[in-house]
Amino acid sequence: MKNYFSKSKEELFKLFSVGENGLSNEEAQERLKKYGKNQLNEEEKESTFSVFISQFKDFLVIILIIASIISLISGNVESTIVILVVIVINAILGTVQHVKAEQSINSLKSLSSPKIKVLRNGEKVEISSELVVPGDIMLLEAGDLVPADGRVLESFSLLVNESSLTGESENVEKKSEVINVEELSIGDQKNMVFSGSLVSYGRGVILVTQTGMNTELGKIAKLLESTKQKTTPLQVSLDNFGKKLSVGIIILCIVIFIINLFHGVNILDSLMFAVALAVAAIPEALSSIVTIVLAIGTQKLSKENAIVKKLKSVESLGCVGVICSDKTGTLTQNKMTVKKVYISEKVLDASGLDKDNKIDKLILQESILCNDATNDVGDPTEIALVNLADKYGIDFKELKHTYPRISEIPFDSDRKLMSTVHKIDNDIIMFTKGAVDSLVPRITHILINNEVREIKKEDIKKIEETNNLFAETGLRVLTYAYKILNSEKEISLEDENNYIFIGLVGMIDPPRAESKAAVEKCIMAGIKPVMITGDHKVTARTIAREIGIYHEGDRVIEGLELEKMTDEELKAQVERTSVYARVSPEHKIRIVNAWQSLGKICAMTGDGVNDAPALKKADIGIAMGITGTEVSKDAASMILTDDNFSTIVKAITTGRNIYANIKNSIRFLLSGNTAAIIAVIYSSFAGLPVIFAPVHLLFINLLTDSLPAIAIGMEPSHGDVLKDKPRDPKEPILTNSLAISILIEGLIIAIFVVIGYYIGYGSTKDALKGSTIAFSVLCLARLFHGFNCRGKHSIFGLGISKNMFSIIAFIIGFVLLSAVLLIPGLHGIFEVAPISMRDICIIYVLAFIPSLLIQLYKIIKYKK
Ligand code: ATP
Repeated sequence: MKNYFSKSKEELFKLFSVGENGLSNEEAQERLKKYGKNQLNEEEKESTFSVFISQFKDFLVIILIIASIISLISGNVESTIVILVVIVINAILGTVQHVKAEQSINSLKSLSSPKIKVLRNGEKVEISSELVVPGDIMLLEAGDLVPADGRVLESFSLLVNESSLTGESENVEKKSEVINVEELSIGDQKNMVFSGSLVSYGRGVILVTQTGMNTELGKIAKLLESTKQKTTPLQVSLDNFGKKLSVGIIILCIVIFIINLFHGVNILDSLMFAVALAVAAIPEALSSIVTIVLAIGTQKLSKENAIVKKLKSVESLGCVGVICSDKTGTLTQNKMTVKKVYISEKVLDASGLDKDNKIDKLILQESILCNDATNDVGDPTEIALVNLADKYGIDFKELKHTYPRISEIPFDSDRKLMSTVHKIDNDIIMFTKGAVDSLVPRITHILINNEVREIKKEDIKKIEETNNLFAETGLRVLTYAYKILNSEKEISLEDENNYIFIGLVGMIDPPRAESKAAVEKCIMAGIKPVMITGDHKVTARTIAREIGIYHEGDRVIEGLELEKMTDEELKAQVERTSVYARVSPEHKIRIVNAWQSLGKICAMTGDGVNDAPALKKADIGIAMGITGTEVSKDAASMILTDDNFSTIVKAITTGRNIYANIKNSIRFLLSGNTAAIIAVIYSSFAGLPVIFAPVHLLFINLLTDSLPAIAIGMEPSHGDVLKDKPRDPKEPILTNSLAISILIEGLIIAIFVVIGYYIGYGSTKDALKGSTIAFSVLCLARLFHGFNCRGKHSIFGLGISKNMFSIIAFIIGFVLLSAVLLIPGLHGIFEVAPISMRDICIIYVLAFIPSLLIQLYKIIKYKK
């Protein structure tokens, strides 16, 4: 362990060849080459080859290999080759799907990778945490994830949580002073910060000492939880379903095997057939299709500005019943503009100040000095204040330079205050700004017409009335106060009292144009939108009413009130409450809990460091990509790259659509398999020769079926998904009504397959011709059926060309089938007879009728 904690700033600068201005860009590039990216070595990535090999470990493939061995023993070399070729093609398809899914997940990972501010060439720039190098000067602030190990050069109440490293859940205060000892445990290195910890409060300037695997975290990286994607609940339940089904099918195959023996088919052929039937019937593609559809879905979501970090969340999106959303920036534009000012008992327009008057001047000074923003970077509330002063020709840089900050207590959303200390002329002034209800109770005096006097009850009443007046027009209100200190000292929370009131500043933050329509959609979709804000009750209600979240008769609950309520009381109120005002981040967890105890799936937004627990607790934790802290992004399951409420609604729509598509893919696969099984069972019981050759079933199940199933998974949304209620998360994917549709559709297709068989078999009892036609009808009918499974409505309702993938999948299947039927060289391999023009017409008609019937049914049903 290096003892950076015992080195002075100068020694460290020398050691890392860097100065106050940070590294130059060129030097940073050099160091990046030398030390590598600042990342932990992830687990060995599976090579494409090993993914390919792992495809052969599948249960189904093992059955197929047995089948090829049986073929070989029975002297059917061609069949063996076909099976082996099919296995290889299937493995290639599986590998491509796996690699594609992996790629899309990885590209999302890089989109959500954390950012950090560093000094490069003296400028503050934001870079991806991976690019941090030893010697960089990092500017940490509340909400950041510490990306590398470093020595604290300056600390402003910097509190860091190191629990991931030391297990200690309490925040640790970090200071810059040198610690003069030889050795220290990590927990005692109070002037060092370590990768993997999070900044919970204050800010600090840090010199990066170690990056990547050289950090303390890197040394224990092996112990870290793997970030590998786990299987989603849907995949688990489909796998279970698949296993149960497989057992049933194997029993069925044994029965068919015995029946075939009974009918005099030889033992090897009977065995071969039973194996092929198992392959045809087991829906082995289900789980992988779900993965690929979910992965493609996440890509689509990211294009719609929602980055979903876990596949599992895509599923849960469709179940969301409540969206608890922050107001500022999510429902509103987060573009604040000061509109009104209240001083000396008068309400003025923002343009009505007189900058030569003492009290007006104090307002403008405090606006700049008690502020961390510039005119375009920082918290929008504070940017608005810089812009206010700018209107009066006050240059914020110059003023900050003239009256430098001596001490500060940063803003936090629990205290709702911010304080700074400056020497102005001969006075040491402490400025504090904050929420009216947090600051006014700490006030003892008032500045009116440039005179300070004790504050009276009437003054407070007037302040509160004005605050209400501002809030009713949707303004966010800040109180300004100050006090004179005796000396230049470090202030602490105990100093935040005995203030002199200066005035109120009211600023507008208009709702986003899209919010109202998005709220309407939510309500139509049976989802309850709830506003949660740190803002004042009246401001919040005014904005909530404007965008349709608040309706007359709804409850508005304030943080203080919520604190007094028991969990049971909150649970009883939560459904009628549409606005929570003046809440602190801890309240958000209780709101999520209350909704979850009512069985609702709850989405919750958050941006601050203290929002992380609520984001973790929510079923879908949503962080803000632009304004959110890294800690909140880390805790969230979804990140909005545009911070916009309407994106949440879009993501839910897409989530519902993805689920519906998966269901439709399942319907397609299972109904086709059912058709094959019914036809086979019929032929066995009717004493007909075996209706399909094994290779037929392999051909359909492994070659022509997968593409339409994936194409169905890519069906675009038709808008009607929002007309349903949110899905019950406990509802199985294979509902009774879906099972009935699968059986009926399978039966209809099977009937026409059997008719095809009889036509081919004819009076000449030509079994090869019969099975050729039966196979072709089954294959083509399933391809047509792909269009039926695209959605609830008829093909005209859905729009034929809306899903080009389904047309392409059909064409590929059709071409493959035509090749097998029409190229004489393939006849032997695929066990088909030469066919005439008449046979082709019969196949087309028989394959088309089931879809025609299903489409007619849909047209009649959905016309009503
Ligand atoms: P929302 O929860 O809707 O996103 P918010 O997160 O912006 O709102 P907070 O930031 O917690 O809410 O602000 C709560 C209150 O604190 C505001 O109404 C305002 O009075 C006060 N406030 C906000 N920003 C500052 C600041 N930079 N300095 C001092 N006070 C502030």
